[in-house]
Amino acid sequence: MKVSVAHAGNFKLDGGAMFGVVPKSLWQKANPPDEQNLCTWAMRCLLVEEDGRRILIDTGMGTKQDAKFFGYFHPDNPDALEQSLRALGLGFEDITDVLLTHLHFDHCGGALYRSDDGGILPRFPKATYWSHRAHWNWATRPNEREKASFLQENILPLQQAGVVRFLDETGQSALPAALSVQIVNGHTEAMMLPKIRIGNRTLLFCADLCPSAAHIPLPWVMAYDVRPLVTLKEKRETLERAAAENWILFFEHDRMTECCTVEKTDRGVRLKETFALSEVGRGD
Ligand SMILES: [Zn+2]
Repeated sequence: MKVSVAHAGNFKLDGGAMFGVVPKSLWQKANPPDEQNLCTWAMRCLLVEEDGRRILIDTGMGTKQDAKFFGYFHPDNPDALEQSLRALGLGFEDITDVLLTHLHFDHCGGALYRSDDGGILPRFPKATYWSHRAHWNWATRPNEREKASFLQENILPLQQAGVVRFLDETGQSALPAALSVQIVNGHTEAMMLPKIRIGNRTLLFCADLCPSAAHIPLPWVMAYDVRPLVTLKEKRETLERAAAENWILFFEHDRMTECCTVEKTDRGVRLKETFALSEVGRGD
């Protein structure tokens, strides 16, 4: 089992939306905003190599949206994912599987690209794209609150190309034994959190359950979440288990911190140590 960061670049989102009910006087210390109240966030994907498969978890927002769209989100390097894969000695055609935690644009937009003739095609031509049926149905018939995050041009062309499979229908055996998923329903319906065994450790890809290290304290829940009280419960259970079992938490959106461990304190579960993914496995 080999895991590597595949970075899809940084982008910006409103600090208030990212920190929910937490006052700016507190969150601005964790992630200082610009003059428009926008904070910078990573789109840090994870490459898992096992049993001859190269599984990419999430894809960033991609390159196919128009300038107006990018003007809202300020991606700093649209070619970051391609460059990051190349630095690992890989091209788009080497990816065998793409696991999409959920279909919000900053997680799945890079799964497709716009070809020279204007068609929208799978970015990874040999890959199977994994989603969850309940989430797919939710995303393709979006509620008004999430509609701006579920861009249909990020979703439907995958189905039209016949490359989507649903992990809940194929079962866990479709993945290498060391990779499983945990389903959570607070951020959106049926988001998949990949969980990876690395030696004797467990790495949890936190996706939007806990987008950055600043979101570890329970009330730090994004305003985007459709069921914030469900997120609270899911975070409590997940972080307590992470503390008890010394899990590695991998952050998709934390600009500075790739990974951390957590510990139980009398104020609840808190950050213990931060480290780079490349440090994982040394000495295990
Ligand atoms: Zn999301």
